[in-house]
Amino acid sequence: MKLLQAKLAKYDAPQKAKAAGVYPYFRKIESEQDTEVLINGKKVLMFGSNSYLGLTNHPKVIEAAVAATKKYGTGCAGSRFLNGTLDIHIALEDRLAKFVGKDEAIIYSTGFQVNLGVASCLTGREDYILWDELDHASIIEGCRLSMSKKIKYKHNDMESLEKKLQMCDPDKVKLIITDGVFSMEGDVATQRANVTDELAKKYNAAVYVDEAHGIGVFGNQGRGTCDHFGVTKDVDLIMGTFSKSFAALGGFIATDSVTANYLRHNSRSYIFSASITPASTAAVNAALDIMESEPERIEHLWKVTNYALDGFRNIGCEIGHTSTPIIPLFIRDNDKTFAVTRDLLEDGIFVNPVVSPAVPSQDTLIRFSLMATHTIEQVDRALECIQKVFKKYDIIK
Ligand code: PMP
Repeated sequence: MKLLQAKLAKYDAPQKAKAAGVYPYFRKIESEQDTEVLINGKKVLMFGSNSYLGLTNHPKVIEAAVAATKKYGTGCAGSRFLNGTLDIHIALEDRLAKFVGKDEAIIYSTGFQVNLGVASCLTGREDYILWDELDHASIIEGCRLSMSKKIKYKHNDMESLEKKLQMCDPDKVKLIITDGVFSMEGDVATQRANVTDELAKKYNAAVYVDEAHGIGVFGNQGRGTCDHFGVTKDVDLIMGTFSKSFAALGGFIATDSVTANYLRHNSRSYIFSASITPASTAAVNAALDIMESEPERIEHLWKVTNYALDGFRNIGCEIGHTSTPIIPLFIRDNDKTFAVTRDLLEDGIFVNPVVSPAVPSQDTLIRFSLMATHTIEQVDRALECIQKVFKKYDIIK
């Protein structure tokens, strides 16, 4: 064995979980992403999806993707910068910019690449990036690549943020980056109005909000949390992904023209990666049509969300500070989290385990998420199974 493999072979946590029969990853789904999916030929209720509006199998979205594939082919064979820009990319960028209320938008091939390529290139060596300790991994990777001074503040804690801002040189650029809705805990950057109106203005900082889980869920027609809190104009950069409410793959950053011009010519994950497929581009456009014309979808998402939030509180689950379709069910024990995930799947309920090292082992949880296409009956069935399994493992009384 070479040194590399000898070193990597010491990492055996997955093998141990497999041997114990609780390995929860890469579960093979044999059907489309819907509220019910097929696993091992068996119907399972899906409560682990990010398809908040339930559009990945919507006939109009599929039709648009097929039509675009027929017209433009399956791929663009190059980066946006050179041979990979299509007219439909530009049209979608214009539409997204207007949708979220910014001058311009730039589409990247994934949401991860947006955060990676934007957070890493805007600020220089002398400048500062201030980031929430629970920001998404893609923001953290972007920060790692930046030459700037990186300062972590306590989760959603504006006092902590202010203290860190006070440590910065007043004459240098400061960029605050936060998730709009935090991806695992489901809580909202509720202090956003303070961040932008007070702290950002007081310390002349720019603000960058990741709306991956906010768009399609919050705001007028799903414009996101910045729209919901009325702070769009004070936020300098709004990021979105296509892999959740937009039912496809890709992501975008929306911002002012000066920043957009800089990004288009300096953001490496944009320049040195092929552009998103015609199918994804057209699917997002069709999903936007539906978001704008069918507000009842978002209303229903909130109806099942509030029903589930009440249901989990009533059965005594610890759900933290969430108020969104992302509901963390805290278990606070790695082994129990794996076992619960397995037992629930056996009972026909698909949920996602969030365990160490993604979170500290005392913070492990089951991430339960809702879609606009779930029914109250499906939520009832999940509540019943979860209550039974949580009692079995002594997580609730
Ligand atoms: N930001 C957040 C908050 C996310 O949750 C995710 C995906 N889980 C991303 C960015 C990355 O998006 P994508 O799936 O488009 O790469």
